[in-house]
Amino acid sequence: MAKKNPKIHEVVKYPDPVLAKRGEAVTVFDADLKKLVDEMFDSMYAAQGIGLAAPQINISKRLTVIDISFQKNPEEKIVLINPEIIDRSGKQVEEEGCLSLPEIREKVTRSEWVKVKAQDVTGKWIEVEGEELLARAIQHEIDHLDGILFIDHLSRLKRDLVLRKIKKLQKNGEW
Ligand SMILES: [Zn+2]
Repeated sequence: MAKKNPKIHEVVKYPDPVLAKRGEAVTVFDADLKKLVDEMFDSMYAAQGIGLAAPQINISKRLTVIDISFQKNPEEKIVLINPEIIDRSGKQVEEEGCLSLPEIREKVTRSEWVKVKAQDVTGKWIEVEGEELLARAIQHEIDHLDGILFIDHLSRLKRDLVLRKIKKLQKNGEW
């Protein structure tokens, strides 16, 4: 069933202040929230991403969508509302990127496995577990809800290099 004219939200880029703010809890689970979730999936796919957090479309709320299969498997579409990591184990170090930091890719240390408590689009509390890439995406997206970007996990030196690269791109009008 093809959707007509999905509303695509523009993804805001670093250093937009909304990205550094802690999102507010979602308290109303209504038709508007369902619509926003659909729009977030559409916006994420349009931007070629596997995860998108509401602050990235300038909505400072604790809501994120993830699909590490990138549209290949509808069962892998995950909506996490007011999520909280309740258990984690192991360690993984992989390259990470972010729709709000285009062209920047750096290795980030994350937990190998996480368990999350969150609400679904109806407000029901659910638990989601993920390992490897899914665990990475979950941690990355929940960070967004706390105003944290993946570059905040880098060493001071690496982070400074990244910020310098961004400044250069901005100067050249490529950011
Ligand atoms: Zn991101």
